Amino acid sequence: MLFDKNSGPAISQPRIQILSAFNGKASVLRLDEVHPVVSGNKWYKLKGYLEKAQTEGKHTIITFGGAYSNHIVATAAACAGLGLQSIGIIRGEAPPGLSPTLSEARSLGMKLHFTARTAYREKIIPPEVWTQVSKEDCLVIAEGGHGPLGVRGISTLAQGIALEPYSHILCAVGTGTTLAGFAQAAFPHQQVIGIAALKNNFSLEGSVKEVLPNGHAENFKVLHAYHFGGYAKHTPELLQFMNDWYRLTSIPSDFVYTAKLFYAFQQLWQEGFFSPSSHVLLVHSGGLQGNRSLTEGSLIF
Ligand SMILES: *Cc1c(COP(=O)(O)O)cnc(C)c1O
Repeated sequence: MLFDKNSGPAISQPRIQILSAFNGKASVLRLDEVHPVVSGNKWYKLKGYLEKAQTEGKHTIITFGGAYSNHIVATAAACAGLGLQSIGIIRGEAPPGLSPTLSEARSLGMKLHFTARTAYREKIIPPEVWTQVSKEDCLVIAEGGHGPLGVRGISTLAQGIALEPYSHILCAVGTGTTLAGFAQAAFPHQQVIGIAALKNNFSLEGSVKEVLPNGHAENFKVLHAYHFGGYAKHTPELLQFMNDWYRLTSIPSDFVYTAKLFYAFQQLWQEGFFSPSSHVLLVHSGGLQGNRSLTEGSLIF
């Protein structure tokens, strides 16, 4: 499954695709292509935590996510490849049938525990988990890999890319970990713009600032107008856009995050937000597996 037991998944160096449809003034960092299962931003965010577990001799990873979470699949796959046990605490009551995401996580060996939304919000680990594993053997990773090790993984990735030529870096935002990583790696002349996938999550800016070192807190902002109804919500207009964007650029997107990012970019571009000397880097953070929950035939890719 393209894994090395010691170093983890065989992640390829991401390519940067120049968009001729935008006069070559916008490019896409194709993190969606770096691995068939652990795609997008997730491996970079997980890497530091998994290394920590291995250094500390811990054999089990516990983490949190919803029924369509890319983070859950990525964690399950990465743990399977590294010979670590994985436990997923899943938001909400157990559904009659598992989502494609959760079936995949389970088939990768992840043990799933469903938890009521209120307990989930508090990130309470259900007591039955501790009848199966000991606390000492576990490393708990926050939802979405949020935290300093997650940010460091993204900033290390960003430092490995020739970022200087870009005036703006745009990425989709869930927990803000990816945004923080790029903000940390950005040059002073650059502006990092996050497109929020959640509705009215105005605590984001604060939580991003919290994980950034001093001096890096001022070069980013979050736009909140492109959530299309909220997290994992979509409209016919968004699905239409995803097909149009694919026809224009040959780039597939996911309806939870990257479609909203590309839509926002196109909107800003048309509004003249970027000056003629701008060069925009769009971070394709992956997540394409989530499209399996859409009605078949909605998308042309
Ligand atoms: C998880 C995810 C994000 C959000 O990343 P954060 O670091 O939590 O902000 C963005 N895009 C895709 C495709 C994702 O799967």
